[in-house]
Amino acid sequence: MNNQPVISFEFFPPKTAEGIAKLRAARKQLAQLQPKFFSVTFGAGGSTRDRTRDTVLEIQSEGFEAAPHISCVSSGKEEIRSLLTEYRAQGIRHLVALRGDLPSGEVSAGDFRHANELVAFIRQETGDWFEIEVAAYPEYHPEASSAQSDLKHFQGKVAAGASGAITQYFYNAEAYFRFMDQCAALGISIPIVPGIMPIYNYTQLSRFSSVCGAEIPRWLRWRLQDYGDDIASLRLLGLDVVSDLCDQLLSNGAPGLHFYTLNQAGIISTIIQRLGLNN
Ligand code: FAD
Repeated sequence: MNNQPVISFEFFPPKTAEGIAKLRAARKQLAQLQPKFFSVTFGAGGSTRDRTRDTVLEIQSEGFEAAPHISCVSSGKEEIRSLLTEYRAQGIRHLVALRGDLPSGEVSAGDFRHANELVAFIRQETGDWFEIEVAAYPEYHPEASSAQSDLKHFQGKVAAGASGAITQYFYNAEAYFRFMDQCAALGISIPIVPGIMPIYNYTQLSRFSSVCGAEIPRWLRWRLQDYGDDIASLRLLGLDVVSDLCDQLLSNGAPGLHFYTLNQAGIISTIIQRLGLNN
């Protein structure tokens, strides 16, 4: 089918031998769903630089497209340049370019203040070698001074040379469609793929959401809270909610889905089966 949605999966680089083995098993299961690519996050301040690279190269050696995330908040030009050279030499053609966050919330110590500057630098250094994804925020970035300015800054990343975008996760499909309308009004035409966060655990989701500005609708928050320690029931509700969200997104024109896997495969495989995308 030509109009098959583009599916991709995001991993974090594991720290331990056990984590590496778990990720390999998850990847094996997710690979059966024929994703376009697997991406691998980059820890704040470059803390995972080697592990991100090692994970990406392992994925690539298995014959899959791998897209390292690269963030600039505390990196200098030379450091980014050498990472780009290394990825290029290894035949990597796809990046997710971000500003990143410092764990302490310190002010940027790097040469780039925002992701648009990083994207411009990658284009200046490497031309069209890389397909570059940037982050988009249908519910707006938590530091944005206004919705309009956030949108303008997103437009700046596109103008700097982004080829596509992946959104922060959200549970209100309308937020994505409203954002898409606003982008269309600004003449932004790159594919903007919704980022999907499966629901594994309420405490963790609540913590992530308050940091990244993703809204958990009140009705969902209350229902998830009601389950307390009953993780099995919570995950069943989460499965219904997230499958329905994905269905609404794809039925109304989203070009694909990018899953934040947290290095787990089970729930995502079920969502994809429910959507009928596994064949
Ligand atoms: P920017 O686009 O620079 O935006 C950050 C803020 O600055 C926004 O409020 C924006 O409105 C404002 N802004 C942007 N440009 C300008 C400008 N030129 N002048 C003034 N203000 C401006 N973090 C990691 O550390 N590692 C990862 O691997 C990682 N992967 C991610 C993957 C996805 C798909 C997403 C959505 C996020 C990811 N993040 C990751 C989190 C991301 O780094 C944070 O959300 C960070 O706070 C912002 O990154 P950005 O690239 O969107 O920054």
